[in-house]
Amino acid sequence: MKTTASPKAPLPVPTAGHLPERSRRARAEPMSVLPLGDGLYEVESASDHTYLVDLEAGRCTCPDYVFREVRCKHVRRVAIEITEGHTPPPGRVAVSCHDCDETIFVDEDATEPLYCDEHTIRPGDTVVNRETGDRLTVVDVSTLRADAVEIGAADCTVAEYATNEGYDPEVPVVGAVYPHATVARNGVVPSSLRIYVFPRTRLEAA
Ligand SMILES: [Zn+2]
Ligand SMILES: [Zn+2]
Repeated sequence: MKTTASPKAPLPVPTAGHLPERSRRARAEPMSVLPLGDGLYEVESASDHTYLVDLEAGRCTCPDYVFREVRCKHVRRVAIEITEGHTPPPGRVAVSCHDCDETIFVDEDATEPLYCDEHTIRPGDTVVNRETGDRLTVVDVSTLRADAVEIGAADCTVAEYATNEGYDPEVPVVGAVYPHATVARNGVVPSSLRIYVFPRTRLEAA
C-alpha cells in the first residue's frame, strides 16, 4: 500500500475494521473517569473534552456516539476501569475505609462507618478497645445504633456511657467478650463471660 497521500484519495469510510481501533484507544489514551452515581460517569479526554457516559444504556455525549451511534472509546473506557477495579460499577460508590486510606466500593445507600476487608470485624475476630488497649473477641456485630441500645447496668445508652462520649452516637454497636474467662475453684465465674457492648468505632480490628 502506498503511504503518500493522493489528493484524490477517498475519505475513510467507517467499517467494522474500526472497532479494534476504538478498543485499543479506549485502553491506551489518557482519560480520566469520574463516577457521578446513578450509573453516570464523566469522562475527560486527553483533548480536554468532557463527555457524559450512561454505562448501562451504553450512551455517551461524544460525536462518535451521537453521530455514528457506535460504542465509543469513552463507554469502553468506563467498562474497562470497572473491570479493573479502578472505578465503582453502577449502584456503588467509592469511599475510604474508616480505619485506613484504602478505597472501597460500597452500595450507594450504605451507611458509615465503612471498612475495607482488613478492618471489617466479624464474630470470632479479635479487636482492640481503643480507650484501654484491651483485646477482646467479637461476639456480635449489630445494625443497632449506639444511641438506641441501653446498657441495663448503667441505666443509659451505649452512646451516653461515659467513656463512649468521644464516639459518634450513630454508629452501630458491637458486642464482645474478654477472651479469658475467670475460672474459680468452683467453676467459671459467670460475670467474667459478660458481653460488653461498644460503639463500633471504639474497636479496631487486631
Ligand atoms: Zn464517547
Ligand atoms: Zn481499612
